[in-house]
Amino acid sequence: MFICGVFFPQNPVWAHTPLDVTANEAGDKFTGLHAIWHDEHGESGLTQALQAYEQGEFHTLETAGSTGLQAGVFWSHFSLHNRDSQPVTLHIEYVDHQLVGLQVFSREKGSREAFREISNLSIYQPFDRRQVAHNRFVFPLTIAPGAAEALMVKFDPGELGVIFPSLRIWSPQPLQQNSKGEISLMAFLFGGYFLMAIFALVGAIAINNKILYFYSFYCASKILVWGTVLGYTHQYLMKGSFHWGHATLSGAVAIMAGLFFARTFLKTRRHTPKLDALLQLMLLNVAFLVGCVLLDWKALSQISMIIALLCYPLVVPIALIRWRQGENAAGVFALGWATLVLGLLAQAMRDLGYVVHNPVNYYWPPVASFVEMLAIMVAIGLMVQRLRLQKDRAEKKYLQQLEISKTDLELLVQSRTRELEAAKARAELEARTDPLTGIHNRRSFFEESNLLLKLVQRKGIPLGILMLDIDRFKSINDMHGHLIGDQALCATARVIAQHVREVDVFGRIGGEEFALLVSADGPGTLAIARRIHRDIAKIMIKSAQGPVQFTASIGVAQLQGERDVLELLQHADSALYRAKRAGRNRVLPYVTVDTDA
Ligand code: GH3
Ligand code: MG
Ligand code: MG
Repeated sequence: MFICGVFFPQNPVWAHTPLDVTANEAGDKFTGLHAIWHDEHGESGLTQALQAYEQGEFHTLETAGSTGLQAGVFWSHFSLHNRDSQPVTLHIEYVDHQLVGLQVFSREKGSREAFREISNLSIYQPFDRRQVAHNRFVFPLTIAPGAAEALMVKFDPGELGVIFPSLRIWSPQPLQQNSKGEISLMAFLFGGYFLMAIFALVGAIAINNKILYFYSFYCASKILVWGTVLGYTHQYLMKGSFHWGHATLSGAVAIMAGLFFARTFLKTRRHTPKLDALLQLMLLNVAFLVGCVLLDWKALSQISMIIALLCYPLVVPIALIRWRQGENAAGVFALGWATLVLGLLAQAMRDLGYVVHNPVNYYWPPVASFVEMLAIMVAIGLMVQRLRLQKDRAEKKYLQQLEISKTDLELLVQSRTRELEAAKARAELEARTDPLTGIHNRRSFFEESNLLLKLVQRKGIPLGILMLDIDRFKSINDMHGHLIGDQALCATARVIAQHVREVDVFGRIGGEEFALLVSADGPGTLAIARRIHRDIAKIMIKSAQGPVQFTASIGVAQLQGERDVLELLQHADSALYRAKRAGRNRVLPYVTVDTDA
């Protein structure tokens, strides 16, 4: 960082070239980097510094303005010349906020007096002890008309730190104006952080969302870190005492909040476990940093902070990986985080002396931080939108599924109902049907014939009844077996059915007994009975013993005021009985005076 006496030997040029100052300094002049001495042990006082100066150990700093991270203290020597006829009062500002102590000695050039201390600033002092109330170190200096002041300034970073030895020269009024501008910018940024933090907190409580809680915490930590790092906390809140650790601690809190938020938002534990382990290591380093602050280890804390800041950009590729995995919001998050990283990079370039200090790179980090939070808010918006779309899609699918299930269920119920109805109809039919012949059984015959009876009674239509019994049926069973007997029964039912009209009722009312109700008058009924009798005699069933033939006896009765079918049937039965008694194989009508009875 230093040029070792090659260009500036025994009698450096700067010693004779004081910087001209006026009563209207607007902060565009700097004391320069021409005579800087590094005391690596940091134990030097004014005497040692003057000795070093006499021995030509003060050299030009070759960087763009910073010493870079160094241990020990730095001294700067320069002269300011007031060519006016009026005394000039200046406010001389240290441009950065990372300094622990600033000690200033001055002596009128050419006088025989010794250097006297005109300012001794330290972050450990109460803020009110400062000669100029400013968030950074500023000391006043008055130069007599025509005089030149030589100054020796000691910059103490405390153990290890970054020094910007070129001081900025102001007249008091412009510095105040500039300060107001800075405070306005910070008020705008802090107001923004504050609103974002509050909105996120309200949202977090309302929908109980972890990501919003962390975002709110992260926003709040930005106020803490920038307020503290830039010196406002000391100026307005902790006026009594301050410590370098406060700024470092606030940085640690912000980094921790950022890492917690990134892990939660990017869901790294679930989707990129290895990278999540890296984030956890970063968190561990921040925890170590907090430990260093608490133990007052400044050098170690500086190193830990540098590690934390160097690792901070790693969140960008992690977010990009999550973006590649299909998380759109992670892409916007990566952009936001990259903005802050660029801001920190600008600060690092300035701290390491590669870039000249200026208000842009000085305020870039907090402004980039602000832009970062806005971008992250957009990312959260995208995430919420995606979740809403997902929910809508799921809901729609659910409703569709519900509709399908409902239709399926309705179809199932319909088919089950049809099946049940069919089964019921089958059961009803079975209950009414004789299983062997398929015609009405006894119960069904009586139901149907009673209906017919009521109808014909109402309309005065004649009604006749036939009761038929197969002759000596038992012997068919005995000789040919039950199967042939069954066939004979079926054939008989078929033959009778040929004579049955639609309105007639026909049923099997006993083993080999059939009954037939016909809407016909006496002669009509008898005629039907005879035809049936004749056709039954023609039935021939094949059996092992040869063809089987049989006859039937039929009793016939006519409706004559009987109240129900049973009564009518009894009359037909009595005629049948007569037919049997008369030798079977015949048709006989019912006669009122039954001589056989
Ligand atoms: P009758 O001329 O006096 O009427 O003499 P029968 O043998 O026909 O009369 P009986 O009442 O003595 O016999 C009726 C027989 O009908 C007795 C029974 O074994 C038979 N039978 C009743 N139901 C069925 C059936 O469903 N299938 C068969 N194969 N036989 C039956
Ligand atoms: Mg019988
Ligand atoms: Mg019989």
